[in-house]
This record gives sequence, C-alpha cells and structure tokens, in this order.
Amino acid sequence: MRPYADPVNPRWRDVAQAVGLVDADGAVRPTIFAEMSALAARTGAINLGQGFPDVDGPAHVIEAAVAALRSGHNQYPPGDGIPELREAVASHQSRHYGLDWDPGTEVLVTTGATEAIAAAVLAFARPGDEVVVIEPYYDSYAAVVALAGARLVTVGLVRDGASGAFGLDREALRAAFGPRTRLVLVNSPHNPTGTVLTVDDLTELARLATASGAVVVTDEVYEHLTFDGVAHVPIATLPGMAERTLTVSSAGKTLSFTGWKVGWVTGPADLVTAVRTVKQFLTYTSGAPLQPAVAVALDDADGRVGEYVRELAASLAARRDLLCVGLTAAGFDVVVPSGTYFVVADGAAFADDGARLCRELPERVGVVAVPVSAFCVAGSPTARALRSWVRFTFVKRVDVLQEAVSRLAGLR
Ligand code: PMP
Ligand code: GLN
Repeated sequence: MRPYADPVNPRWRDVAQAVGLVDADGAVRPTIFAEMSALAARTGAINLGQGFPDVDGPAHVIEAAVAALRSGHNQYPPGDGIPELREAVASHQSRHYGLDWDPGTEVLVTTGATEAIAAAVLAFARPGDEVVVIEPYYDSYAAVVALAGARLVTVGLVRDGASGAFGLDREALRAAFGPRTRLVLVNSPHNPTGTVLTVDDLTELARLATASGAVVVTDEVYEHLTFDGVAHVPIATLPGMAERTLTVSSAGKTLSFTGWKVGWVTGPADLVTAVRTVKQFLTYTSGAPLQPAVAVALDDADGRVGEYVRELAASLAARRDLLCVGLTAAGFDVVVPSGTYFVVADGAAFADDGARLCRELPERVGVVAVPVSAFCVAGSPTARALRSWVRFTFVKRVDVLQEAVSRLAGLR
C-alpha cells in the first residue's frame, strides 16, 4: 500500500503523456535526450542525439566565471539577474537587432531558455486556453503547456515541393488561431529541422497573432548559428510586434556552455512583469558566478566573443556539410539545415519507424540519433508524415563526425 492517496489524474501524468513518455503498460520513461544519451554511454556508440558541443566555449569567459567564484559571487544574485548582465542583454539586442529595452524593467535573466519559456507559458495560458506551436517542436513546449493545463495546437512544417525545404503550412497556420488562442510559441532557427523561418512566414505569423490578440513567445537560442548568409530575423523586429512579443535566448548555444543554463527574456515591461512573477517562484534566481561571465561575453569589449561566434557558425556549416554528405551517401533523404546544430533525415530506407531505427542504430552501426517523432504529438499528421525521420547533431568534432559517417555507411 502506498502511504498516500494516489490522485486519479495527477498533473505530472499529463506532462508525461503530452511528451509521449508513457509506455503501453503505464510506465514512464525519461526524455528522449536522457534515454538516448544513456544508450550511447551504455553501448559506447557515437552520440549524435542530444545537442551539446564536445568542445567548451571561449576560455576567457570561463576565466571570468572562475574570477567571479573567487571574488565572492556565491550568494543569491538579484531575482531579475545582476544589473551588468541585464545591461549586456539589452545592449546585445540593440546592437544586433535595433531592439531597445530598458535593462531595469524589460530584461529578465532566467535559468536557461527553458525556464523563460516555462514561466511565460505559465504566466499567460490558463486551463482551456490554446497555445499555438510549430510542429515538430522542442519537447519542453508540450510539457509546459500540459503543466499549465492548456491545450497545444500545432502547425506542421511541410516540405516545399521544389526546394525540399521546410516551411509553415499556411492553411494549418490560419486554422490554428481561434478565440482561445493566448500564446504563440515560435522557434527560429528551428530545433529539430534547422529551418530558419522566412520573413514571409514570420509576417503571416505576426499578422495572425495580432488579429487574435495573442502574445508571441519566440525561442531564439540558435540566433547566431545560421549558415550560407541566411539571416535570423527576430519576430519582435517586425512592425507592431515588439509590443506583443517576449524574446527568449540563452548563453548555451551561442557560447557553447549548454550546462550553464543562463538565459534571458526581453520584451515590454508589462509582459516581462508577468514572466518575472512566475519565474521568481520557479527558481527565484540561479547562476551567481556565471552571470558576470555571460555579461562579459555579451559585452564583448575586445571583440573576441564575436569572432568566436562567427567561427563557430562557419565551422558548424562545414560540419553540417560533412554530415549531410555522409548521410546522403548512406541512403538517408536529408533536408540541409540553414541553422542550429541539427539535421533531420528520412531513414525510410532502413526502417519505417524512426524511433525503432534510433533504438537499433547503436547495435547496427554504433551511432545514436533521436527520432523526430519525439518532437511531435503522437499520431498527428506531422508525426505521421515524419514517422521515419531522425535527427542528428553535428555539433561534434570533425574527427567524431568522420567516424560517425563511416559507421553510417555500413547501414546499406
Ligand atoms: N529551446 C530550444 C529550441 C533548444 O534547442 C534548447 C536546447 N536545449 C532550449 C530551448 C533550452 O535552452 P537552455 O539550455 O538555455 O534552457
Ligand atoms: N536542446 C538540446 C537538444 O535538442 C538538448 C535538449 C535536452 O537535453 N533537454 O538536443
């Protein structure tokens, strides 16, 4: 007998269900990233599943964190984040995008982008409200919408017949908005497909969000990781959008410190107040010695970080090419990404189910990937269309990718 009364439908089960983590027998699994990283560790396979770099970010930024640890930055920082970091975030948004935010009231430091997104959804979506997201989507979106008791409404990415690139399904996009739409969660550059949404797609999203009175939350963690001259355009820069948009980013991807979990959100004071109100009861604050280091990186007084990020994007483009060529040669149908760490590829030549293929890949060739179905609503049209697709990360050293590619060639 359990020593407590087990509620019939506890909220945590809704969360597990929303992210597709409940097995047929009711057992609950960890996230796909945890499962696949554990599988890689167990089998010794090359882990191209979870997206994290195998080389650390700039040494002088690490030194700034060490200096902060040694000079007493070890107690709670202010709930909003230290002033230096809020100022650095505001100046970054102004420098890169011409967006001007008051560091005192319009910038909030969070525990990674994940907390910013969670706090924004919990702040605005009530039970029964609808949150529009692009499918496939980063898994935390569905989880946090379920935590809020709100309804996830997905708009699929579809492939363009001519170019093969992914774009928004415009008809589905228009149909997604209704009287209960409270929030639109945008992610560009997009995980898992590596799509950078076009200004046309963003403009249509903006038009529909405005017409329905929805708040836009935009996850731009891959903002600096775009390739081939493709520019990332924050939706907040479109006419009339700054006043209804919360822009989220973090240090993880830009600086190759995914474990630091220092993120931020910018937007008009009333929207940021809403997010702060929730955020202060999730973590209150975090990352005391890391916040000054991220401030140093975003300020980038001597330009070293700017150079680091430009080189990172260029080297990622080359690593993308290496992996895409290898995957194509191995028999995958690849959609070449314009940004992020990731490429998605159709593995129909090897299995009709990407999840099964991912569980078999370590045994078959010693490589780990993640199924695109983990980023979809089970049974949705997009999940069906992408059933045999898998995601690979290329944020690994060239020698690691070369070895992975030669192993994948053995699939044939
Ligand atoms: N959004 C997307 C699209 C991501 O890929 C990630 C990566 N983990 C996150 C949010 C989470 O960012 P953070 O680690 O800063 O919480
Ligand atoms: N954003 C990374 C990915 O998509 C890591 C996600 C995670 O571990 N939660 O792979």
